[in-house]
Amino acid sequence: MQTSRIPGFYNMTVEERRELLAKMDTFTEEDTAYLFSKESLSMDTADNMIENVVGTFPLPLGLGLNFLINNKDYVVPMAIEEPSVVASASHIAKIVRNAGGFSTEATDRVMIGQIQVVGCQDFDAAKKTILHEKDYLINAVNAAYPSLVKRGGGAEDLDARILNEKTGSKYSQMLIIHIYINTCDAMGANIINTMVESLAPTVEELTDGKVYLRILSNYADRCLARARCVIPPDLLASDGFSGEEVRDGVIHAYEFAASDPYRAVTHNKGIMNGIDPVVIATGNDWRAVEAAAHAHAARDGQYGSMTEWSKDEEGNLVGELELPMSVGTVGGSIHVHPVSRIAHKLLNVVSAQELAQVIVAVGLAQNLGALKALATDGIQKGHMALHSRSVAIAAGATGEMIDVISQRLIEANEIRVGKAKELVEEYKK
Ligand code: NDP
Repeated sequence: MQTSRIPGFYNMTVEERRELLAKMDTFTEEDTAYLFSKESLSMDTADNMIENVVGTFPLPLGLGLNFLINNKDYVVPMAIEEPSVVASASHIAKIVRNAGGFSTEATDRVMIGQIQVVGCQDFDAAKKTILHEKDYLINAVNAAYPSLVKRGGGAEDLDARILNEKTGSKYSQMLIIHIYINTCDAMGANIINTMVESLAPTVEELTDGKVYLRILSNYADRCLARARCVIPPDLLASDGFSGEEVRDGVIHAYEFAASDPYRAVTHNKGIMNGIDPVVIATGNDWRAVEAAAHAHAARDGQYGSMTEWSKDEEGNLVGELELPMSVGTVGGSIHVHPVSRIAHKLLNVVSAQELAQVIVAVGLAQNLGALKALATDGIQKGHMALHSRSVAIAAGATGEMIDVISQRLIEANEIRVGKAKELVEEYKK
């Protein structure tokens, strides 16, 4: 089993880190050639992925370390431009590892396809007919994707609702059919769209209405993943702060986010700082994950915190995160982008359910990283020191100069581009 504890990884050069990776059994020479090449995504592949291609847009790929989830070690690929995220995730993962690791679970991967029917003479009767013909419709929609059914997936259930029946204009009155489809290891957007489109003529016949939209709902609230950690306070103690102080600060910070949307948005952005880089590195659709996550955070009618933090009877800090997680290990661009293929190998997950669980564990770690910093030194101390290198580069520093300028910015306690430009000029002289 690969370990995700690699002491000193942070202080290695890129070459040393690559050597270490190349030695892992996980990778073939071809894999590492792609990962280490200047053009890991070829122009040919890019041109076949989207339209009007003129180039590619690389992001740094870092490794989140120390993750122990359900007693399994994970090295987590994270593609992100923001400094401090990977360091913070790895730092918290180490603390949680010492507390026994994250425990996670996931529901079945049931996604939702929606069909919109308008212009019915009698919406009530149309709804009753759809519900009465449930089994027939489920069989019909499954016939459009037999390979999915063969794998153990496919449509499992169906529901219907009438929107704006009494109050709305003729444009707003509609029957909405939800078809619940297990998409196995695929995110499933294309699969679902194919399936629900195939059903439209049958639905029109049965309802005497007209079908307009036939598409998945990105609010995948039947495709959930959950992560939990329980941390004894002594593991939370840091420079000048007792573990109890940190724990209480984290819970106060959570309560703020739970009660105030202005804080909740920033709090949740920090969670997505951990989630998006893994979703991106594994070739998944991060817009879909983002959209669903924020909808879930507003499911009680007020936008609130995605995580929950509390204290248990023994005084431990308990953190929990539940999110819709419509990610796949197959489909879309996952096996088209060579680096995403390698990211999957590195993660060593066997199913989309397992991938979803790793992702929410990283989100929970990231949230604690931010809250712990906010409840103690403030976010800027750690973040700006790591950001200083980007500031130096933005000011024109190159090569060895980057380290020097970044260090001088930290010493001057003035991490901003204007100051860095002055230092670059001085250095050149
Ligand atoms: P695909 O269209 O690539 O479908 C996945 C394919 O994987 C299936 O056709 C299936 O082929 C194959 N497959 C192999 N093994 C498995 C397995 N174990 N479980 C399930 N399928 C398997 O991708 P998706 O349907 O997942 O769609 C995802 C893409 O759709 C993403 O790129 C997303 O950005 C995009 N998209 C998103 C939308 C949205 O979010 N609103 C809208 C439209 C597109 P077979 O059964 O033939 O073997």
